[in-house]
Amino acid sequence: MAEPDRLVPRMHGFGTTVFAEMSALAVATGSVNLGQGFPDTDGPPLILDAAVEAIRSGHNQYPPGVGIPALRHAIADHQRRLYDLDLDPDGEVLVTAGATEAIAAAVTALAGNGDEVVLFEPYFDSYAATVALSGATRRSVTLERNGQHWGFDHDALRAAITPRTKVILLNTPHNPTGTVFGVEDLAVVAELAIEHDLVVVSDEVYEHLIFDERVHVPIATLPGMRERTITIGSAGKTFSVTGWKIGWACGPADLLRAVRTVKQFLTFVNGAPFQPAVAVALDQAEKLAPTAALQDQRDLFCAGLTDLGFDVVVPQATYFATVAVDGDAVDYCRELPTRAGVVAIPSSVFYDSHAGDHFVRFAFCKRPEVLRDALTRLAAVAR
Ligand code: PMP
Repeated sequence: MAEPDRLVPRMHGFGTTVFAEMSALAVATGSVNLGQGFPDTDGPPLILDAAVEAIRSGHNQYPPGVGIPALRHAIADHQRRLYDLDLDPDGEVLVTAGATEAIAAAVTALAGNGDEVVLFEPYFDSYAATVALSGATRRSVTLERNGQHWGFDHDALRAAITPRTKVILLNTPHNPTGTVFGVEDLAVVAELAIEHDLVVVSDEVYEHLIFDERVHVPIATLPGMRERTITIGSAGKTFSVTGWKIGWACGPADLLRAVRTVKQFLTFVNGAPFQPAVAVALDQAEKLAPTAALQDQRDLFCAGLTDLGFDVVVPQATYFATVAVDGDAVDYCRELPTRAGVVAIPSSVFYDSHAGDHFVRFAFCKRPEVLRDALTRLAAVAR
């Protein structure tokens, strides 16, 4: 499709997202939509009630630019409790309009014209657009599939870093592969960041959606990394409230001041009544996150796909499963609604290279009966 006449060149290629196209196809064909990643059940009553109460008790005007104190304290407590990371809630925590704004503010604060941002493909789709908006150039390092694992070549990461690199944009647990980066991989990222004096922006929004007793390690906990890492989180995934758009960025005061400088002119503030609700819930995040239910959904869906003969990579975390298909993933996903009545996302849209041309992403954060229905339908295209 042609670009709108007046669209600035740096945003060419970022027209209608594949999510919009696939969601429209889902409606038009009456398909089960396993495209966009949002749960089809509400979050815990405790957090919903707290938001209602906050609206009724007058939390409806602009909150402070950095976020309400209760939430900043809850975020700092969360990072200390889970990861032994010590943060000053008054200078090292910033509440944002979802993780998306935190990523946008961090990248545009730290990289501009002539700079480069290194990221791992496949990547969450906002990364490429955000780097483009910043005026910087992205360099991607491919996560290669190896059986049931995804990993990157350490030399490829080393080679992607140039004198122009300012930021490494990391995402663990990783969307769409569902990979939890191990300490060995994180150590390589850390070593290179320190060697080249780079900032790591670490998107950890799936930190609680992690299976099989695996452990999430924030890169900020590695030696020498606290002072050069901006850690990003979000309430959306942890509490099944993706529409609330309450996220945060944590890091050393000087870096956070840079992020805040940009953030204040993006949205300024958001979500006044949601902030106290998230503060209450974060204190019990380990208990409230839907981890166990999601692991059951993963097992149901991935076992079902395997039984049908699909080549599925079972995720270690997140709510996405990747399937390798014959032929082009975009064609496959465009045809799947009419062939089977199911919508998925071609993972190829998350790549700069052709490494993802045959991968398709299914979101399994849906009720078991919905997943069973999808599996019954998918039998029509099984091998
Ligand atoms: N990062 C990743 C890796 C994601 O998958 C998503 C949501 N799909 C986001 C960030 C966005 O989070 P939020 O809704 O809090 O902006």
